[in-house]
Amino acid sequence: MPPDWDVEADVVVVGFGAAGACAALAAAAAGCSVLVLDRFGGGGATALSGGVVYAGGGTPQQRAAGVTDTPEAMFGYLSTEVGDAVPAGTLREFCDGSVAMLAWLEGHGVPFEGSLCPDKTSYPTNRHYLYYSGSELSAAAAPGAAAAAPGAAADAPGTGAAPPAPRGHRTRGRGTSGGLLYARLAAAVRGTGARVLTQTAAERLVTGPGGRVTGVACRSLRGAPGWARLAHRVLHRWSVKPYLYVPKAGRLLHRPVAWLERRYARALRVGAARGVVLAAGGFAANRPMMRSHAPTARGGLPLATPGDDGSGIRLGTEAGAATAYLDRVSVWRFLSPPPALLGGVLVDRAGQRICDESRYGAAIGDAIIRHGGQAWLLIDQTTRTEARRQVRGSTLWFQRLQAWYLLSLGAVRASTVAGAAARAGVDPDGLAATVAAYNAAGPQTPDPAGKPAAARQAQDQPPYYLIDCSVRPRLFYPAPVLTLGGLVVAPESGRVLRADGSPVDGLYAAGRSAAGLCSRSYVSGLSLADCVFSGRRAGRSAAAAQALLPRVRFIPWRAWPVPRAPGRCRGRR
Ligand SMILES: Cc1cc2nc3c(=O)[nH]c(=O)nc-3n(C[C@H](O)[C@H](O)[C@H](O)COP(=O)(O)OP(=O)(O)OC[C@H]3O[C@@H](n4cnc5c(N)ncnc54)[C@H](O)[C@@H]3O)c2cc1C
Repeated sequence: MPPDWDVEADVVVVGFGAAGACAALAAAAAGCSVLVLDRFGGGGATALSGGVVYAGGGTPQQRAAGVTDTPEAMFGYLSTEVGDAVPAGTLREFCDGSVAMLAWLEGHGVPFEGSLCPDKTSYPTNRHYLYYSGSELSAAAAPGAAAAAPGAAADAPGTGAAPPAPRGHRTRGRGTSGGLLYARLAAAVRGTGARVLTQTAAERLVTGPGGRVTGVACRSLRGAPGWARLAHRVLHRWSVKPYLYVPKAGRLLHRPVAWLERRYARALRVGAARGVVLAAGGFAANRPMMRSHAPTARGGLPLATPGDDGSGIRLGTEAGAATAYLDRVSVWRFLSPPPALLGGVLVDRAGQRICDESRYGAAIGDAIIRHGGQAWLLIDQTTRTEARRQVRGSTLWFQRLQAWYLLSLGAVRASTVAGAAARAGVDPDGLAATVAAYNAAGPQTPDPAGKPAAARQAQDQPPYYLIDCSVRPRLFYPAPVLTLGGLVVAPESGRVLRADGSPVDGLYAAGRSAAGLCSRSYVSGLSLADCVFSGRRAGRSAAAAQALLPRVRFIPWRAWPVPRAPGRCRGRR
């Protein structure tokens, strides 16, 4: 072991969210010593998430709910969403292995259940754990749905051939159940004997001869005074939820956390005999990166933790890696729950229809962004009454606030369609013509936007309401934004690649630090599913790489680094 490594393991994983945990599990299962580093306590966006994993092809939960699905049907639908973000062979491998992947998660203690949600919703209530989490129903109803077309636009009708099946497997647990998913994976990682070094941020990759990545230069609070570590842990935890809902307040609360790091963290050099896996999340919390790569998402709410500062991607690019899809961000605009709102007509400022309103929220968000970020949903009195009736039974608390807002403060009302348009600043003639055409189409006529017949509802009972669905900052109806792009990786191994296609030796990436299955278009569950898929792949490949040195045994805990110069952390650097 080179004398300047403070600690070394076969495989070093940067970031302890879903991708990092799955990489660690895979590497440990291959018999390697594993060290996981996390800037905070672990969990990242995964622990805040809804815990929905996109899976299908005939999972036990689908079968229990009486749903028929096959890997081919799953592949057919996902081809329309994933496009060319990954090669068709990779998507095929993902679909063929989906049942086994879910079983693997269950084997590590993550529970799922086959209780099918009857409504199209953004997130099911605590009574249901299986639902249509994408645009499966719309894709099947789209006119000319004949052949899956890789590379097709996410909301382009006519590209889905697969029979629809619900594939959103929500982790069984009350509320947003990503916390449970992470807790079970983290416990499994610790159960393998892998070590987790929290409050340790990776700052730079260390490279050896030929540019091979041999380790990670970190800044760690290990060795800092106990009160500083405690304050860092507690203050970070307190800032995470405000960061999600009111980013300004979250950033303010997080300032002392960053100060503690600057003041008390010390250098720690971590050697990786076989490889380093970057699994440090995305970049939604990095405002300069967002401004430069995703200016259209301005006004959206970063769906992120302070850890999503793009450092995983930066570490890779500094080592020579290429990036892809950094401009692809998922902007969520959910109209349901309550499901009755899906019967409305979504239009732009000119009063022209934007897309099939029953599509998944990210596809609707995408369409709104392409129409300049402004959109309004027209509903009539019948739809509004039905929606109000549904609110209680179809929502969790955060969805209830949103539904209440949409049905009250977020809408203008008038006795005619043109009158509502005039009040909202939408072209009255354009909207009147659009609504007339929508209402005139009989149930047998295919909807030009591809909306399934079951979701179509004539809007002809005054008064009329126009709900503002534009993408701009609003407390009760924010537009969450998730980054989808990252480092370019080899599809068969997760090795990080340069622009010329050659691999950066010793470096792997997974989850939102890497480009992957969901990088072109996101549907609920596809990011976590990709974290599991790409995390396991990276962990397996790193474990199989040739070790730099004779096999390294993990250094016992008591021999772990202590401050090199006791008391140094107290002085100014
Ligand atoms: C509210 C919410 C709901 C969501 N719901 C869903 C859902 O239901 N289904 C779905 O598929 N997706 C969902 N998503 C998106 C999904 O949660 C994330 O895309 C996914 O969890 C990313 O996982 P990851 O492992 O790549 O990163 P993370 O889970 O964010 O983990 C990255 C970790 O790396 C650490 N880190 C960062 N930088 C460094 C560094 N320099 N050194 C050391 N450590 C570092 C961070 O502290 C963090 O712990 C949701 C997201 C949010 C915020």
